[in-house]
Amino acid sequence: MINLSLKDIAQITGGELIGDGDVLVSSVLTDSRIIGKSSGTLFFALKTTRNNGHKYIPDLLKNGVNLFVVSEKPRDKKVHGILVEDTLKALQELAFYQRRQLQGKFIAITGSNGKTVVKEWLFQLLSTRFKVYRSPRSYNSQLGVALSLINADHGSEVYIIEAGISQPGEMERLEEMIAPDVAVLTNIGEPHQENFTSYEEKTREKLALFRHAEVKVVPADCVPLQKLLLNNFTGYYAWSYHSSYGASVSVMSTGKKSVLTFKGRINHEVSIPYTDRASIENAITCFFTLHASGFDPKEFEIVFSKLEPVAMRMELKQGINNSILINDSYNSDIGSLAIALDFLLQQAGSGKRIKRVILSDIVQSGKKPEDLYDEVNKLLEEKGIDQLIGVGEAISDHAGLFTIPGHFYKSTGDFLKDIDQFHFSGEAILIKGARRFEFESVTEHLAYKVHKTTLEINLNRLAQNISVFRGMLKPETRIMAMVKAFAYGSGSFEVARHLQFHGVNYLAVAVADEGVELRNAGVTLPIVVMAPEMQSLDTLFRYHLEPEIFSFDILDAVIAEAKALGESSYPVHIKLDTGMHRMGFLPEDVDILIGVINDQNFLKIESVFSHLAAADEADKDDFTMEQIHLFEKNAEKIKSGIGYEFLKHILNSAGSERFTDYQYDMVRLGIGMYGVSAAGNEDLKPVGTFKTMVSAVKKVKKDETVGYGRKGVLTRDSEIAVIPVGYADGLARLLGNRTGYAVINGNKVPYVGNICMDLSMLDVTGLNIKPGDEVILFGDEPHINTVAEWMQTIPYEVITSISQRVKRVFTRE
Ligand SMILES: *Cc1c(COP(=O)(O)O)cnc(C)c1O
Repeated sequence: MINLSLKDIAQITGGELIGDGDVLVSSVLTDSRIIGKSSGTLFFALKTTRNNGHKYIPDLLKNGVNLFVVSEKPRDKKVHGILVEDTLKALQELAFYQRRQLQGKFIAITGSNGKTVVKEWLFQLLSTRFKVYRSPRSYNSQLGVALSLINADHGSEVYIIEAGISQPGEMERLEEMIAPDVAVLTNIGEPHQENFTSYEEKTREKLALFRHAEVKVVPADCVPLQKLLLNNFTGYYAWSYHSSYGASVSVMSTGKKSVLTFKGRINHEVSIPYTDRASIENAITCFFTLHASGFDPKEFEIVFSKLEPVAMRMELKQGINNSILINDSYNSDIGSLAIALDFLLQQAGSGKRIKRVILSDIVQSGKKPEDLYDEVNKLLEEKGIDQLIGVGEAISDHAGLFTIPGHFYKSTGDFLKDIDQFHFSGEAILIKGARRFEFESVTEHLAYKVHKTTLEINLNRLAQNISVFRGMLKPETRIMAMVKAFAYGSGSFEVARHLQFHGVNYLAVAVADEGVELRNAGVTLPIVVMAPEMQSLDTLFRYHLEPEIFSFDILDAVIAEAKALGESSYPVHIKLDTGMHRMGFLPEDVDILIGVINDQNFLKIESVFSHLAAADEADKDDFTMEQIHLFEKNAEKIKSGIGYEFLKHILNSAGSERFTDYQYDMVRLGIGMYGVSAAGNEDLKPVGTFKTMVSAVKKVKKDETVGYGRKGVLTRDSEIAVIPVGYADGLARLLGNRTGYAVINGNKVPYVGNICMDLSMLDVTGLNIKPGDEVILFGDEPHINTVAEWMQTIPYEVITSISQRVKRVFTRE
């Protein structure tokens, strides 16, 4: 927090005042994208190799920011501020000044890995007893440290500041700004990660942080450090895994926790909820830092046992379809990759989750790319990673080096275009990318989003239901999957893509637009449009959709369009009306039909089919057989009339279950595939589960009423659960007033009163139901068939009436 006038800051930074010096400055800004408030904000126009902050000044002025620290004299008269030689230096001068205003104990942490975790864990530990400020996220650079100090709270008892360097000469500057009382080194990684030529140079640079510190915590087992200090740790608080240096530690890991036993300067034991090497080491560093800084580590025992994962570093998230995500898009060197992989393995557990890594180019490694990616591959192999997705020019160029099965994309954008093709499900996924790859969008895409009301579509069941049908059919019989009406309410392209994957032969939609949507989503299977519209015939051809021909009008129009577009032998499907009396050519039309077909070669008959009117009604089986015979006879007639073969088909789901002998070349599956059987086949399982969550539970007294029209009369003191679903979502009003029930925690709970537009009420008396509990509206139980009975309709209407505003969520086991 700052509270200085522009004039003060000009003096602190040694700059030249421009305009009014009495304006008060309350915050500083260096990133033009994150303006909070505008008044009192001082923008430092920083120059880096890639960017120049001065170019954002006009935009900032528009947004109300008018105080600037610049190194180029501004032309705009509205600019007030300070002209300096170097804007970053000026910012650091301000930080230096701010630091001298602060009183508490300063702990500074440096090292190649683990500094952010150590900083965050020290914060978790110390903040249980003291007022602590810590540098935000990974603000550890020349800029980050300056901002951390400028924004530090006054009046904290402990300040924990992270210090990172990437070049020689930087630490001295950081040390001056931070002036730590306690300096901590976590470890020393490879020198060329950070533009150093040798371990010695790098170690020496890091130790610049220790120059004036009273307390210096170091890992004595660190070889470069031993070499530099010639094994003389006098004046250091050195810890080791062996007893040769003052303080030592030993580790025992069992299950999900580790016990750390400290000996020497302090004898004590703590347990931590981690077993990976990096976490153990970070916890040890925290323990010794506490002790060395004069705190009593014994007082923090409980906090140690509950140390939480550090989100800004590696974020563990619930992913889509029961996946887990580990998000570590904060740095991308090979050392941190190894650590992240350990964490991935730990989180993946011993089960059979696929372990996948989404990895960007590794930048600034200082290694030859061949060596680098070879090393990455070895590391992935060693950790037993199953799948890799490489993103970036460099990693793609070295795709050949990888022995792990992988996919490679030149950019994050390219990957995002393809991301849905992967059907991530039940996996453990590590997302690791350098900043500039902006993997946030990848994480966002794969993160599980909570929706209160969903229609959950179980894609495994869809595939299982198809297998059930395959089991009834001859192996060579083709399957046309009906995905009309948004795939019977399930969500068209997700389902279509899954069907394509499971090897169905055809898809069928009602109108051309539905087909276009599938094509745009990357579906390549043949698609039949059952009700082509005269106005959109060119769309059909453009997207290679195959029309159903059900009348002479449509036949003539399709021929004309095919001719105009120069098509020949374009596949079409002829519909015969054998008794349904809806669409199709009647038997008496067939001779003329043959004549028209033989007169042209723009179209080719791909299949001839008919549709059964009552395949699911046993008392009408005689009629069904008549339809089948009529179909057989006329299809044969067409075949001899036109002189070539085509596919024949008449069975829908119910027909496939009940008239299997007449499967001909193909069956057309709809409702059965979505899990509703016409023949009581219990192997077919509903694919969709309509779910929501309890919004509120309230107690209502006997004789009171619930809802519109006072219909829900209570005959006992009751508990009423309110759910955020109504008839506008497709929960039929007919279910109200105890006609139907939902299921919560295995209990059948009846609807009380009328179903409203967006809400409904359930009687949950005595069941200890709480807000947030899951409510099954229908699926297995209550079964879609039961709900259809309550609604006095058929299952088809139940599943297709779920409104589009209900989010479809796809799951795979
Ligand atoms: C919708 C439809 C089907 C599928 O019917 P189900 O009873 O859902 O299996 C089959 N054929 C045609 C022509 C259809 O329109």
